[in-house]
Amino acid sequence: MMNYLDSHCHINDEAYDEDLDEVLNRMLENRVTRAMIVCVSFEDYRKTLEIKKEGIRFKKAIGVYPECTGISEDDFNEYVRLMKECDAVGEIGLDYHWYPETKEKQKELFIRQIRIAKELGKPVIVHSRDALQDTYDILKEHRYEGVLHCYSGSAEMAKEFVKLGYYISIAGPVTWKNAKEPLEVVKSVPLERLLIETDCPYLTPAPNRGKRNEPSYVVHTAKRIMEELGIDEETFLRQINANYDNLFGSN
Ligand SMILES: [Zn+2]
Repeated sequence: MMNYLDSHCHINDEAYDEDLDEVLNRMLENRVTRAMIVCVSFEDYRKTLEIKKEGIRFKKAIGVYPECTGISEDDFNEYVRLMKECDAVGEIGLDYHWYPETKEKQKELFIRQIRIAKELGKPVIVHSRDALQDTYDILKEHRYEGVLHCYSGSAEMAKEFVKLGYYISIAGPVTWKNAKEPLEVVKSVPLERLLIETDCPYLTPAPNRGKRNEPSYVVHTAKRIMEELGIDEETFLRQINANYDNLFGSN
């Protein structure tokens, strides 16, 4: 029987300081046995190194978040040093929703990190909020391998990213009421290009919406997708695990 995975989580967040082991136990109970832990700070990275659980295989990623356009060269170089220890570079990208005043600097920082990811041979994990066209233009010009994490755009745009070779990762909103667009995305992206994630502690899927999110809840997101696609669990999980292996490596 195939198991579930969470391709993007922040269990290094302080939201789990009190009960991380219970969170990890619930992953095992729900057959979520692989997870990518994403770091957006040195503190995240330090905590991530301490996260271990028998029966769960973790990967890790680090990147300079779009908020951090004012980063010093020393700190940037330290991020690059840590990227070499990781399975992916991210999350990196553009966030015009929260940081609309630094668009040009965000683009520079994004492109610089895609170039480094290429040099290192690590895939990119892309964050894009209210910036999908610029994200597309950059990922087209600086074409590489990676995933649009927590994808929230249209089905049409998703198809364009897939044409460039990127994966599309679906998070909790697909389970929410009025999830028309996310469900269209799910149907328009080939299964060979889909990933699933929680992005926890945020974006909690139904029926737990309103509570803190955690990796075991990825099962709700996966089940909603399977239902929409009309495919069985084994087929779905076999392909999702293969996609994760193809992008991030099979360790
Ligand atoms: Zn994230």
